[in-house]
Amino acid sequence: MEIEFYGATRRVTGSCHILRANGFTVLLDCGLMQGSREVEALNREPFPFDPADIDAVVLSHGHIDHSGRLPLLVNRGFSGPIYTHHGTIELCRILLRDSAMLSENDARFMQKHGQRNAEPLYTVEQAQQCVSGMTGLRYGERREILPGIAVTLFDAGHILASAFVRLEITEGETSRTLVFSGDLGQYDSPILNDPETLGHADTVIVESTYGDRQHRDFEKTLAEIGEIIETSCRECGNILIPAFSIGRSQELLYLFGMNFEKWKLDQWQVFLDSPMAIEASRIYWHYEELWDEEARLFRRNMRKMPPVGNLHLTGRVEESMKINDIHEGAIIIAGSGMCNGGRIVHHLKRNIERPECHIIITGFQAEGTLGRQIVEGRSEVRLHGRSYRVRAQLHTVGGLSAHGDRNDLLRWLKSREGSPKVMIVHGEESVKESFREFLLDEIAIDALVPKPGDRLDLASNQLRRAEPEAQ
Ligand SMILES: [Zn+2]
Repeated sequence: MEIEFYGATRRVTGSCHILRANGFTVLLDCGLMQGSREVEALNREPFPFDPADIDAVVLSHGHIDHSGRLPLLVNRGFSGPIYTHHGTIELCRILLRDSAMLSENDARFMQKHGQRNAEPLYTVEQAQQCVSGMTGLRYGERREILPGIAVTLFDAGHILASAFVRLEITEGETSRTLVFSGDLGQYDSPILNDPETLGHADTVIVESTYGDRQHRDFEKTLAEIGEIIETSCRECGNILIPAFSIGRSQELLYLFGMNFEKWKLDQWQVFLDSPMAIEASRIYWHYEELWDEEARLFRRNMRKMPPVGNLHLTGRVEESMKINDIHEGAIIIAGSGMCNGGRIVHHLKRNIERPECHIIITGFQAEGTLGRQIVEGRSEVRLHGRSYRVRAQLHTVGGLSAHGDRNDLLRWLKSREGSPKVMIVHGEESVKESFREFLLDEIAIDALVPKPGDRLDLASNQLRRAEPEAQ
């Protein structure tokens, strides 16, 4: 029995690991690589295995960097089951469809501009077919997915229905427990529960997106958002919030509801300008059983979600375009979260050169994205082929991240039983190394950072490198 590390080892996006045990092959996630054009081109490359040979997939959560290549896997010959949480299936329905639509649009654009053979990565129909083949599980429900391989999902507190995965593997006389973190959320974050206890494991694969830093204290983050809204109100501008449709948008609306009076939000018009975020919100508000105590109590008192009176859900393009006429008093939540497409780009064009406007960055910005350029403080950015000076005021609000910081990751690892081998994945190179050192200092865990193609023998926890280490 072994695990081969494939994606999410050298770069942050594109999670995918290959488990081989008892004569079966199981994929843990099958994510899309996101970032610059060169990085995204990698999605088209052949898988380092024959998709027809994969017996099953276990999907940790809906985010596209974990699920986005599943339709492609199906196209290329995979016909087995995909196990994931019920709620993740709902979210994948909209996420994978959106991913397919973007890809179809791109292909059409390229065909128009001379590349006649340009094809989408997959079509909307193929995405829908993939989702219809998913099998839903509940948290804590143990399912033997193949002889000798049992799966249990636990709440990872990252986005709705996100899971970390426990795999109990038996091969002959040998039994081992592997825990794959997927993406882990922050403790005490709004709406969602804390990540569950890690429990017994012989091997743990842990993400490290924010393994080198500590998020700002949540209360301070709230105070900061309150101050930005107040300042912005005085300066008569708009506030733009690029946000991921799933998770961040709902969290923001929830926080707006909780702080409605304190932040004097009655003086603003709030726009959720994203058809996908609107759909995702419906799923979020539907799955009350997956919320934490505080959110349930809040709903009981408010009787409405989200409790924001002047909220406009601008699903249609014409509605979205009307926002262009508003020069002050609009809080616009729009995708994409990393500004590399979507309606937020249109709003940036209207507002980025205006010093009275504010941009609030609330999530991770991958290398090569427009959001990353903005966060890095570029004085000029290109939007739809034209240069714009960045004169709007920029705020990076760290405390709202869907990912736990290094202390959250540490807290989760501390909830382990036994002394598992820890493998660090899903972070930028320097971050993984920094997190490795942090774990060594804090809890004397000597973790390993696998590279693509490396294989870990699960019985012995010995790592075989695909390439010898440089001396
Ligand atoms: Zn995620």
